[in-house]
Amino acid sequence: MNIHEYQAKELLAAAKVAVPAGKSTTTVAEAVEIAKGIFESGSDLVVVKAQIHAGGRGKGKTKNSGARGVILCRSVEEVRTAADSLLGDILVTIQTGESGQKVNTIYITDGVSIEKEFYLSILLDRGLGKNVIMVSTEGGVEIEKVAEETPEKIIKEWVEPGLKLQGCQARRLAFALDLSGDALKSAMKLFTNLYDFYVAKDASLVEVNPLVLTKEGEVVALDAKVTFDDNGLYRHADVQDLRDESEENPFELEASKYGLNYIKLDGNVGCMVNGAGLAMATMDIIKLSGGEPANFLDVGGGANVETVKNGFRIILDDPNVKGILINIFGGIVRCDRVANGILEAIKDEEIARKVQNVPIIVRLQGTNAKEAKEIIDNSGLNVISAVLLKEAAAEVARLFA
Ligand code: GDP
Ligand code: MG
Repeated sequence: MNIHEYQAKELLAAAKVAVPAGKSTTTVAEAVEIAKGIFESGSDLVVVKAQIHAGGRGKGKTKNSGARGVILCRSVEEVRTAADSLLGDILVTIQTGESGQKVNTIYITDGVSIEKEFYLSILLDRGLGKNVIMVSTEGGVEIEKVAEETPEKIIKEWVEPGLKLQGCQARRLAFALDLSGDALKSAMKLFTNLYDFYVAKDASLVEVNPLVLTKEGEVVALDAKVTFDDNGLYRHADVQDLRDESEENPFELEASKYGLNYIKLDGNVGCMVNGAGLAMATMDIIKLSGGEPANFLDVGGGANVETVKNGFRIILDDPNVKGILINIFGGIVRCDRVANGILEAIKDEEIARKVQNVPIIVRLQGTNAKEAKEIIDNSGLNVISAVLLKEAAAEVARLFA
């Protein structure tokens, strides 16, 4: 699960990680009030930041007003204009894709005078089975580029499972950023507290880009992207409350309500499969046959009438879908029962209407596959049965390639 920058910074502040002061709002009037408070406290810079679940806001632009997603303001009037240009508009960044993301909330923060920008992230190194904390002097720019062109500029420390980030490790990271004196101490404290936060909250990624050294010599997180491990969410009611469904794909959101594992893709062949591995193989087969999968959908081991019905609903809601490939392996579940389930689901009025012009290819393999094929073939419905994956692929090629 992802959260907004302002939510991440509130959590970080509570975990004693230095972040600039700020407050989120959904109105221009309140943005102005927050900015007045910041200017009155002696600051001469206020930053207005669009809150969407995507990075690259600084270089992104809104569709209507043409404003950047991060705006530096020197006066209350500039904050008013900035807030007005962002709220309600669609922000397009390299991470949102062409369609962009609507800005419902903005974050008004105390502007920091930047001496240096760094990069920092914490994530799991799956190869080593340890969390890794990475820093680079090349902050503010795309880290993928740094990793590709000058990997030696990314410094890593791996933390032993069950242990905290050690003092010597925090010091090595701070030295790598060429910090000394109070700035070094400030960075070490930030690394230590940020690592504790990452572990305590079951995060799967914390990325701070840029991490900055201020002109006053303090190290603070200027940006913050935090992703949580969904499997650990049940332990963190406070984190669950931060979920913003308006940022999620509507199809995926609907599927998650039915307990289905669904990921929207760009193609036109919908797929319904039991088991994630088989679902991946099915998408490969569709591509190899010259089609493009419209989605990943794992309906789980059961594949009963209810799950098949819900699967159909989700797939058919996507206007790109021109056909459906159902690929079920009957291991625990018997194929004849699944075949009957599919036919019953198609009898549902709403589904029946939507599948009229959508060919359905069903490949059932495993226990009672022969009986299942007979059931489908004798149903009189617009369903093509296939026993082998090869046959299913040939049908996909015939219809969609
Ligand atoms: P992103 O573009 O979505 O990653 O948004 P960031 O929060 O990283 O902001 C983009 C850029 O805006 C940063 O790299 C900084 O250069 C600049 N910026 C953001 N906040 C401040 C600030 O408080 N002071 C100054 N001087 N620049 C800032
Ligand atoms: Mg950033």
